Amino acid sequence: MLERARSLDAADPQASFRHRFDVPEGVIYLDGNSLGCLPKATPARLEQVVRGEWGRDLIRSWNSADWIHLPQRVGAKIAPLIGAQPHEVIACDSVSVNLYKLISAALAMRPGRKTVLSEPGNFPTDVYMIEGLEKQGLAQRRLVAREELAGALDDNVALLMLTHAHYKTGQLFDMEALTRAAHEAGALVLWDLSHSGGALPVDLTACEADFAVGCGYKYLNGGPGAPAYAFVAQRHHEAIAQPLSGWMGHAKPFEFSDDYTPAAGVDRLLCGTPGILGLAALEVGVDLIAEIGVERLYAKSQKLSEFFRQCLSEADVELELVSPADPVQRGSQLSFRHGDAYAICQALIARGVIGDFRDPDILRFGFAPAYLRFEDMAEAVRHLAEVIETGEWQRSVFRERAAVT
Ligand SMILES: *Cc1c(COP(=O)(O)O)cnc(C)c1O
Repeated sequence: MLERARSLDAADPQASFRHRFDVPEGVIYLDGNSLGCLPKATPARLEQVVRGEWGRDLIRSWNSADWIHLPQRVGAKIAPLIGAQPHEVIACDSVSVNLYKLISAALAMRPGRKTVLSEPGNFPTDVYMIEGLEKQGLAQRRLVAREELAGALDDNVALLMLTHAHYKTGQLFDMEALTRAAHEAGALVLWDLSHSGGALPVDLTACEADFAVGCGYKYLNGGPGAPAYAFVAQRHHEAIAQPLSGWMGHAKPFEFSDDYTPAAGVDRLLCGTPGILGLAALEVGVDLIAEIGVERLYAKSQKLSEFFRQCLSEADVELELVSPADPVQRGSQLSFRHGDAYAICQALIARGVIGDFRDPDILRFGFAPAYLRFEDMAEAVRHLAEVIETGEWQRSVFRERAAVT
């Protein structure tokens, strides 16, 4: 397989982009869907922002380096990756905080309706944020299995809120069909693009989505805890009111008025002072993903994951696939179920093959296509086969749970 893999790499027109990332020697990184790799240009850009813009120019940089518009500038660069217009996206806060803002805004736009509909097993923070609003008496959380969602859209539903590519299985929702069904029932729709933005083509405009959020530190390679982004369709720009009425979302923050007047459009989603270092790093990651192009990335990720499965079957490794077998129905990942997934994952990490474990029994491999090679697929499967065949994972060191899995 290794030879086949190398010839596929040699023929891959995108292979050179790997060199734009700092992929550590001896590591096969199958966790770019949790924390993307470091772009090589990021340290120099941060050095410039820290030493020059902050160290030397100090507070003048809010104007001279245009720090004040960095959330909009980065948002505008993310927009074409998700089928949005530049002024419909802003980079700020975490996904969780943006969910809070947008769920609240949606509820206020549907007076008389309180239900926020989602699926059980959605990413925890997504369902927790609904729960928080429920405790405030503002929302009613309803979780319904994905097959039954369309049928559950009754006239109590204010918002349908789903994650486009499921974080555990990679399974995709049909964004267009579900958005249409929700609209027909009078509900609004919020898509969480954390596992799809920057990894596969998303067209929020064509789907007529109302709201979206997404993550900066996964496929956009913005660095640990990078700012997230939020999208609001232009048709809702007048109507949205968000509850975190901080001064940076004010129409004129530097008038220091006693009364809050929201800024126009997505600018009102800002709350406090944006973290400039985080945004600067995110901008480098977004620029690089935009340069490669989401269509190309997605095409390669499908080839990588299909090649991974071929390698598994040739190595006679039998693992239960929990991701859709059809590549068009999944994001850039493959997940498998195994009773000892945690220990297997740890044994692989000890060999330099970094995937991750998702409670209780999922072994998850992310294929961030910007920097992975077919060779990595063949080698990862060789290691996986050896770990399972030799029983290496049974060593007690591989069973100790760390704080972050
Ligand atoms: C990664 C991820 C998040 C992360 O939320 P943060 O508040 O940025 O930590 C949220 N939702 C989904 C679906 C994710 O995959």
